[in-house]
Amino acid sequence: MRAELAQSSRAARDVLQAHPRRVALAVGLALMGSGIAAYAIAPGTPDPALSPQTTLTIALQTDAASQAQALDDQPVVLYRTTQANRSDTVQTLLKRLGVTDPATLRQLSADSQMRSLVLSNTGAEISAQVDSAGQLRQLQGNLALAPPQRTAADAPSTKASPKGVQADSAAPADAVWQRLTLLPSADGWSKTLTPLALRTQTRVAAGEIRGTLASAAQSADLPSTVMAQLGRIFADRLNLKRDLRRGDRFAVVYEMLTVDGRPVRTGRVLAAEITSRGKSVQALWFAPRGAPGLASYYTPQGHSLNRVFLPSPMPGAKITSRFGMRFDPVVKRMQLHEGVDFQAAVGTPVRTVADGRVVKAGQETGYGNIVKIDHPGGFETVYAHLSKLDVHAGQQVTAGQIIAKSGNTGWSTGAHLHFEFQVKGQVVDPLKMAQYVPPSQALPSGERASFMAATALLSTQLAQAAGSGSRLASATKLVPSTQAD
Ligand SMILES: [Zn+2]
Repeated sequence: MRAELAQSSRAARDVLQAHPRRVALAVGLALMGSGIAAYAIAPGTPDPALSPQTTLTIALQTDAASQAQALDDQPVVLYRTTQANRSDTVQTLLKRLGVTDPATLRQLSADSQMRSLVLSNTGAEISAQVDSAGQLRQLQGNLALAPPQRTAADAPSTKASPKGVQADSAAPADAVWQRLTLLPSADGWSKTLTPLALRTQTRVAAGEIRGTLASAAQSADLPSTVMAQLGRIFADRLNLKRDLRRGDRFAVVYEMLTVDGRPVRTGRVLAAEITSRGKSVQALWFAPRGAPGLASYYTPQGHSLNRVFLPSPMPGAKITSRFGMRFDPVVKRMQLHEGVDFQAAVGTPVRTVADGRVVKAGQETGYGNIVKIDHPGGFETVYAHLSKLDVHAGQQVTAGQIIAKSGNTGWSTGAHLHFEFQVKGQVVDPLKMAQYVPPSQALPSGERASFMAATALLSTQLAQAAGSGSRLASATKLVPSTQAD
């Protein structure tokens, strides 16, 4: 009987250590109460109905007292987990974990690694073992350490590609993740750092615009960094903030980088679909093995979305006159309008649509103040009726750079920007040029099969997400990772 009881209390202690808070009360009651109750939690014991119950009760009462004493002598260790809040200090976080020992609170508040664990790691999970006396027995948390400082020579170029298709994140993309473990030692605290692997999960989210785009993204549990990527991916076809209406839908497959199964930052959008007023646009990420330079977003038909020119020299401005034949209000006859006019108050920033070299920054009859930019490949853009020039002839400019302020100079009937595009000296429709993909960006025929194979699953995931649309709005689904970089 005694052997059985010892086994029973060992089992009870094991359970207690595993689930201290929930079990503590139950065990306490069992030890104070009848032997039958204590007996009941021991696994593998005989049916009490088959045993002489009176004898059993006496034996247990004697032993229960010493067992209770033994438990009292040993401080109970509680396992607790909490998340670092924006407003936390090392001390508030430790107190939340149950640490009350003043020396520990003081020492760890001054510790630099503890500070970065708590202060620069909002949302990070930190777990601790704290005994019933408020003493910290162990603490663990994951740290995102900044990568080693680079020298200027090997630092990556900060120049963004025109479409900015790189993944973005809150933590540095090349942060090194390590698990910090703190244990009490003779002279304070021993700390160990264990490297953690960054893993990629693929996630799917979809939603419908009911109010703002931001609220739709929020109810679909879609990180704002992913929404920002969508904005850039579709920039030349629609303006997410301005063009989306109530009832429009989005679906997206994206990467989430995790450490220990916990999300730490978003990765790249792998596939996306936006349906606006019944029309759908899609983008699928594909990195051809045979041509890494062609890694880009593609349409499901395999056409690259990697445009050469930004969609507009004045993003968001209303087009008041398109390229083509029109009645010219100045010369009063039908004439080819050789560019696109954007409505703009005098002083609105004008941006170059691609990298290039300024060939003229001055005045020209009819055009007023003008900037002409030569782009590699035989392209030239012209920006006219300007009020102020911000560049000079011969200057190199990069896509998106402000080159001037709009105005009403030259033969102009009102404040606007006249924007022209020339290909090898011939005027062309600037709006068509925004869609231009150079031949070198087209998917080689040898890559077609692998494109279809690599994007088939993405298309399926996208279709499933889009199909379940609003029902998925509040749920982010985990799906197996499909595509490695
Ligand atoms: Zn014009």
